Amino acid sequence: MVQGIVNWSTELNEEWLQNYVDDWVAFYRKHTKDGEVASYIPKLQEANPHHLGITIIGNNGLEISSGDVEIPFTIQSISKVISFIVACMERGVSYVLDRVDVEPTGEAFNSIMHIEMNQVKKPFNPFVNAGAITITSMLNGNTSDEKLASILNMLEKMLGYRPVLDVDIYESERDSSMRNRAIGYYLLETGLLESDLNITLETYFKQCSIEISVHDLAKIGLILANDGFDPQRNEEIIPRQIARITKALMLTCGMYDASGKFATYVGVPAKSGVSGGIIAVAPPRVRDEAMPFLSGCGIGVFGPSLDDKGNSVAGIRLLRHIASQWDLSIF
Ligand code: GLN
Repeated sequence: MVQGIVNWSTELNEEWLQNYVDDWVAFYRKHTKDGEVASYIPKLQEANPHHLGITIIGNNGLEISSGDVEIPFTIQSISKVISFIVACMERGVSYVLDRVDVEPTGEAFNSIMHIEMNQVKKPFNPFVNAGAITITSMLNGNTSDEKLASILNMLEKMLGYRPVLDVDIYESERDSSMRNRAIGYYLLETGLLESDLNITLETYFKQCSIEISVHDLAKIGLILANDGFDPQRNEEIIPRQIARITKALMLTCGMYDASGKFATYVGVPAKSGVSGGIIAVAPPRVRDEAMPFLSGCGIGVFGPSLDDKGNSVAGIRLLRHIASQWDLSIF
């Protein structure tokens, strides 16, 4: 086990970093027992709670993967990042932000109470379910498959391949969706939905069931770390202004009602999902001393055992460790 204070100026070679990450994945894997896999979507309960994996893709071309990185999982709430980006690109930022606010809630992601309590009649932000369902209703297309295609097209541009749905998870989610339907009906009553309720909800369940890997999450993180530019293909994928707003939302609202703690203790924009995925975005930083990934990186984490807020329990601790050791914080 690598322990103690590390002098990074002498330890920046790839092999040393790989060993370092391997050691800490093994260490934090033990923390998976402190949480539980999500059960409110029955099919998610089949995940192995001991899984923990991480991929880091650097602007400098360095890529490090460790742990259970071969296990596919569903994107869940992380899809809200993609649907928000797509809606802003299709409709324009001001159109979207006129209809969904950008304030953290301090409430659970699927809270119904806080939508009704909001004086301004719009959902608090695009990452709580009320906001995400409203955003999904704005996507181009007349059917759920057409709307979903907007999201898959964006993922294909980001990842270089077109992801597929996990049909079992989709059906499980659709068949256990009472709360999301309740939120949907509330949005319908307040006139916030821009498409038919059933089409919107079907799209939302499908977008949450897109199958993804830890490497995919790291790649999306890398693009966001570069303000929407893909350094590997030398191509702008997301307009800079939209990428920046997305990162601000990830920092303030991305980890549900634990976003303040995550910003304080980890200090980078991030977004989690109930299947145990997390995207973390570490932009380039200016430091005098040598540090790993100084020029910025995207990080993907997968660990289905969740804490009481619905975030990967071991994944957060691993990220906190790495971010503090590598000084990744944007603050
Ligand atoms: N599909 C899940 C839901 O809507 C996504 C929630 C999440 O990942 N936090 O309940």
